[in-house]
Amino acid sequence: MNQGIQSTPSGDEGKLKLAIQKSGRLHDDSLKLLKECGIDISNGVNKLKSEASNFPLEVFFLRDDDIPQYVEDAVADIGFVGENVVYEKNKKIDVVEKLGFGKCRLSIAVTRGDVYDDVNFLEGKRIATSYPVLVQNFLNEKGINAEIHEISGSVEIAPGIGLAEAICDLVSSGSTLFMNGLKEVETILQSQAVLIRNRQLAPGQQAILDKLLFRIQSVKKAKNNKYVLLNAPNDNLQQIISLLPGMKSPTVLPLAEEGWSSVHSVISESTFWDIIEKLKAAGAQGILVVPIEKMII
Ligand code: ATP
Ligand code: ZN
Repeated sequence: MNQGIQSTPSGDEGKLKLAIQKSGRLHDDSLKLLKECGIDISNGVNKLKSEASNFPLEVFFLRDDDIPQYVEDAVADIGFVGENVVYEKNKKIDVVEKLGFGKCRLSIAVTRGDVYDDVNFLEGKRIATSYPVLVQNFLNEKGINAEIHEISGSVEIAPGIGLAEAICDLVSSGSTLFMNGLKEVETILQSQAVLIRNRQLAPGQQAILDKLLFRIQSVKKAKNNKYVLLNAPNDNLQQIISLLPGMKSPTVLPLAEEGWSSVHSVISESTFWDIIEKLKAAGAQGILVVPIEKMII
């Protein structure tokens, strides 16, 4: 089961062991996040583990389902894994940080022609899923009795072959459900990749984790913000400045052209379009929007 990885009970205090998915939907984004954090992993896909060349990190490549157990057992100190797996496995680990990728939802779906008014539809029905624990929790919460059929893959074909009347599976676009003649009727969990940790890290490893978390948070903040540069007529400068929150306050520099200033600021992705429209209405011109690579505040 543990694919030859040996736990080191004494621990190498000078290094942190990270488990990521060996191959699959989380693999590339996990490596990309490390890269954005300035951590170089030489190679990996066909190997069991790899060492970072410029950060005290050793990366293990594992099946995602096994990651919570490895982290509980301290074979790995930390892991990147979907919340769906974390809450299904229910191991003694802590969730430290949402990572912003691997977004999906765990949903119940029924045959498209079914009349589904509410969750009572599921009473006495058979539900096929790879997530028996999460589905059972949902049914208990709703006071519904249904039969859970645990299957490990291709859950979406279960209604078509007469194995179940409903399924519960991960959905992102919904196209797999659609192609199989199903419709989504309940969402039981919103999920994304998270960083999980062993509960008893040595002080040295805790210090490396803090350093890694600081980098991850800087990358996440940068992704959620844009750097904006614009030209503002001095007559409307105050109004334009009031639209820009900035990290402290916007930078204002005089332009060579009389009566104009250059204004620089940072605005968040969520308010972006709203603010850009107001800036234009207030007379801002030559608006440049630039992605931010890292944001340290
Ligand atoms: P493994 O071989 O590691 O067990 P797997 O087949 O269980 O891989 P993948 O299909 O690669 O897993 O999905 C890994 C994770 O990606 C899921 O557990 C989930 O957190 C996330 N994910 C994001 N979007 C989707 C989606 N549309 N369908 C399935 N998983 C998704
Ligand atoms: Zn898996």
